[in-house]
Amino acid sequence: MTYPNWLSQRSHLSGGRMALSFQEQQWTFAEMNEIALEYAGKLTALGVAKESRVAILARSNPEFVFVMYGCMHVGCEMVMLNERLAPPELAYQIEDSEAEFVLVDDELKEKVKDYNPILFSSIREAVPAEFEIQHEWEKGRTISIMYTSGTTGNPKGVRQTAENHFSSAVSSALNIGISPDDVWLCSVPLFHISGFSILMRSLIYGMGVRLYEKFDAERSAKEICSGTVTHMSMVGVMLERILRNVEEASLAASPRFKAILAGGGPIPVAYIKRAEQCGIPVLQTYGMTETSSQTTTLQSADAERKIGSSGKPLFLYQVKIDGTAKAGEKGEILIHGPQVTPGYIGRFSGRKVQEEGWLHTGDVGYLDEEGFLFVVDRRSDLIVSGGENIYPAEIEKVLLAHPAVREAGVCGVPDEEWGEVPVAFVVLNESAEADELLAYCREQIASYKVPKRLSFADALPRNASNKLLRRELKLWN
Ligand code: ATP
Ligand code: MG
Repeated sequence: MTYPNWLSQRSHLSGGRMALSFQEQQWTFAEMNEIALEYAGKLTALGVAKESRVAILARSNPEFVFVMYGCMHVGCEMVMLNERLAPPELAYQIEDSEAEFVLVDDELKEKVKDYNPILFSSIREAVPAEFEIQHEWEKGRTISIMYTSGTTGNPKGVRQTAENHFSSAVSSALNIGISPDDVWLCSVPLFHISGFSILMRSLIYGMGVRLYEKFDAERSAKEICSGTVTHMSMVGVMLERILRNVEEASLAASPRFKAILAGGGPIPVAYIKRAEQCGIPVLQTYGMTETSSQTTTLQSADAERKIGSSGKPLFLYQVKIDGTAKAGEKGEILIHGPQVTPGYIGRFSGRKVQEEGWLHTGDVGYLDEEGFLFVVDRRSDLIVSGGENIYPAEIEKVLLAHPAVREAGVCGVPDEEWGEVPVAFVVLNESAEADELLAYCREQIASYKVPKRLSFADALPRNASNKLLRRELKLWN
């Protein structure tokens, strides 16, 4: 089973449409395909061949896109490296993936200097060699390999096939619709599925991408209000900063602007309401590296009625809760669909990613009577105290609602009497006493959930995706 080569097909069908814009420059799909072919020749000259595994480390700029599209023409597997990782973390991923080549943006070369990297400037200067263009792509071909954020343990290398990306793009289109003049503002990283999936949608829909190297709230707000873009993907903190800019300028979104896709964690309902005031529909999503982007989405019309929900699955996908029969019962979230990875690589290659076609997400959640999904927490962070289940996220949410609290992290520690008990770490905005915060918790949650200890810290342990590392918090005790 094959697809036509996405780059050639898109150039053939709508070569004159805008494919990519960056600062003042822009390229059509025909131009992008020409550049991609040239880069494929250059990469071939440097030894890269079909099915080579190639690690890439770069910032989100057009050259990164040229290199990726060149790799896709050659037919190699791209291991996407996160530029925010430290050298030892990069070394782990390069070694675990057994990448034959490491391609690096010149500015970042120090980070991977032990791996004989090929600089982007060397690719640019190479004289293209002949290569055999593939007119068809196998559906099961691995396009990208992305490492999970490493929140619950070592990052796992996830294979994402052409079919995974294709079904993800199609499912998203069935959900939010597409039109020829759509332009997606991309200021989430291209090495992460949030950014890379925008490029895949661009090729599959013939949609323009407005690329930013870094998130810029003020400029993004201007584009949303002037109608130069129609969609944008982001996490909660980015949304808040954009809203502040729109509100301060007393502006509203252009009628051309269609939607913000917000994921990575629950979005506070206060943001959704403010976005509505600004005329910006916000769709909350739930997904992971293993599902090549969003699996469920909450429509903005349901946001208020279903506070805290991640919505319903996209058309091609199914979601169920392991071992439960009734609505509201909590259990591990299982996912089935063509967007689910066929498996991990490297040291996790032996780990079964699907059982009887269902991905075991490691996340705990429940479905309400109407089938809306609520993500509760990570299964591995569950605290069992005197036979009661405690989810750290619930306690963190309570603490975070206190005005003096900027960040909160909760984990379980061994306890002779109860087996395990929750303890909390807090970063303060303004001065407060531990007793005062614990009393605040006692007013809102059952006493067995109230942290047995609460300590203050200057910062909490987080990974390169800014996610809280509760497994490191445990070591603080
Ligand atoms: P690792 O698998 O290495 O521990 P990770 O799971 O954090 O890292 P990602 O694939 O980047 O790596 O993140 C996906 C996870 O993010 C999901 O499994 C889920 O726990 C969390 N997540 C994503 N969207 C939401 C959401 N809307 N609400 C709550 N949690 C979410
Ligand atoms: Mg995970």
